[in-house]
Amino acid sequence: MKLWEKNVRRVIPYTPGEQPSAANVIKLNTNENPYPPAPGVTAAKDAMDAKRLRLYPDPTAKVLVDALAHYYDVGADQVFVGVGSDDVLSVAFLTFFNSEKPVLFPDITYSFYPVWAQVYRIPYETCPLDENFRINPEDYYRENGGIVFPNPNAPTACYESLDKIEDILDHNRDVVVIVDEAYIDFGGKSALELIKKYDNLLVVQTFSKSRSMAGIRIGYAMGCPELIKAMNDVKYSINSYTMNMPSLIMGVEAVKDETYFSSCTQKIIATRQRAKERLSELGFEFPDSMANFIFARHPKYHARELFEALRSANIFVRYFNQPRIDEYMRITIGTDDQMDALFDFLKNYMDVNK
Ligand code: PMP
Repeated sequence: MKLWEKNVRRVIPYTPGEQPSAANVIKLNTNENPYPPAPGVTAAKDAMDAKRLRLYPDPTAKVLVDALAHYYDVGADQVFVGVGSDDVLSVAFLTFFNSEKPVLFPDITYSFYPVWAQVYRIPYETCPLDENFRINPEDYYRENGGIVFPNPNAPTACYESLDKIEDILDHNRDVVVIVDEAYIDFGGKSALELIKKYDNLLVVQTFSKSRSMAGIRIGYAMGCPELIKAMNDVKYSINSYTMNMPSLIMGVEAVKDETYFSSCTQKIIATRQRAKERLSELGFEFPDSMANFIFARHPKYHARELFEALRSANIFVRYFNQPRIDEYMRITIGTDDQMDALFDFLKNYMDVNK
């Protein structure tokens, strides 16, 4: 063993979804938006003066914080921005879950949560979802050091009502409760309205899904000013210049264009409805989705088999080799044409492999 090896922080890292480089892939595996960002984003990118890149970006990310505060009608001191919601969530874990008590999250959920807990040495316990993949609020009544869950959940796509979230908040006034709303813009109701009532609620959202900007990496959190200040203090203690200049400029443009935003999300919701119908006709079963993906299983064909067959046809979906969900594949909602290619392939595969 080398001398330094015993000092290494050993972790089992998060495994990101595959990002294939081939151009002809129908990419339905990492819940990206199939449509381009708002036209203003492209225009701002083209107009950007690369000479300005010699300067550091504004560490407070003021233009973007102000744009988000204006859009959501909250104070600028209630908004924290980060490099994708992964960065925001990571800072939130480090800031709020500094406790001997376990952080609670569902047993089937975003698989980054246990990884952050592990790397920051935060104890955690999981609360099993019920047989329909739903959260039972009573599981969160026990003593804990904080709570986090996505709404809609990933990878199940199940949406929980605000009543349930309030139930969890009412029983947990002393710890921070993070609602990870990466997929909220596809038909769910945000918990944002509850931040006035609960000073321990942090709502986290992203530009990666509904705003078609996964590549630029912007996420944000909203909560009471004390929560946001605590996160900024931690962030400035690690890396103050997280938000690069192009992301600030493009992010502001994305927030401005509400018309484009809602037309894109409406298109995805309409395609999701068609996808639910087509998948049902093909015999798939799935919990109702309120996200830009569907979590589906087939009683006759194992998900791994379908995942591999689709992959060989350059159609990428996501398969999780994990207990309880290893019969499911997660299919991102693409364009209508991409979805038709998927359904045609599945239909043909099932006809040939009766
Ligand atoms: N939360 C959930 C539930 C997600 O599925 C994802 C996407 N993988 C994220 C957060 C992170 O997204 P991003 O960092 O692109 O904002």
